[in-house]
Amino acid sequence: ISESPFLRVRNLRAGYGPARVLQGVDLEVEEGEMVAVLGQNGAGKTTLLRALSGMVRGRGSVGLRGTELLGRAPEEVARRGVGHVPEGRGVFAPLTVEENLRVGAHLRPGSELAEDMRHVLSCFPVLRAHLSQPAGNLSGGERQMLAIGRALMARPRLLLLDEPSRGLAPLATRRLFDVLRAISTRERVAMIVVEQKTQLAAEFAARSLLMESGRLVTPGTAGASGDPSAPGARRWHGS
Ligand code: ATP
Repeated sequence: ISESPFLRVRNLRAGYGPARVLQGVDLEVEEGEMVAVLGQNGAGKTTLLRALSGMVRGRGSVGLRGTELLGRAPEEVARRGVGHVPEGRGVFAPLTVEENLRVGAHLRPGSELAEDMRHVLSCFPVLRAHLSQPAGNLSGGERQMLAIGRALMARPRLLLLDEPSRGLAPLATRRLFDVLRAISTRERVAMIVVEQKTQLAAEFAARSLLMESGRLVTPGTAGASGDPSAPGARRWHGS
């Protein structure tokens, strides 16, 4: 029996009611690999992440280490190792930072709460000083770290990140991606990162893919028209 790839997506179709957004997405991701998904507004990037985490119904196949994820409830997909950090970094503002992190831990049965907390705070040391403060008091960058930290509490093997750089200053963005890269390489957590900042994505991700007409294509190849207005678009070619 040949070994299944870590994540294998085949002919994934999804949408909202009669509106079909994903028209047949094919994608393979290796353990610990960071893949960026680029594309214009409305192309379906967010829908792809939702379909992968079970938040919208998909058809086709999503295999994680050979196990089919399609048709499972979002909780169960999460329990199988898929963490989703939606756009807008939805943390619970009235809860403290620590309470927010504890919410993330309940998805992993038998989790070592203290150990997981230590692990997350080692990734994002800045959160330590704010543990007992309401999450609503955090800066945008800190809130994004908290949202990612909450997902990490469940010790995911695949992390889905929807525009983590949105609203962050360049320095905060860079720091965040440094941490993400460390987590993906050191702990072999695979990541699919939806990004508008194409140059950043090209710098940090192992591969960049373009969402176009509901499918994923490799930028600069036949079938990909590219987005000439996007900054850094030329870097795609030949890289
Ligand atoms: P953006 O960067 O603007 O979020 P995107 O590439 O992530 O773009 P999606 O959010 O996946 O795109 O949206 C793809 C299409 O699906 C768009 O036409 C959008 O209007 C539509 N859509 C998104 N969410 C819903 C929803 N909950 N109900 C109905 N249609 C939706």
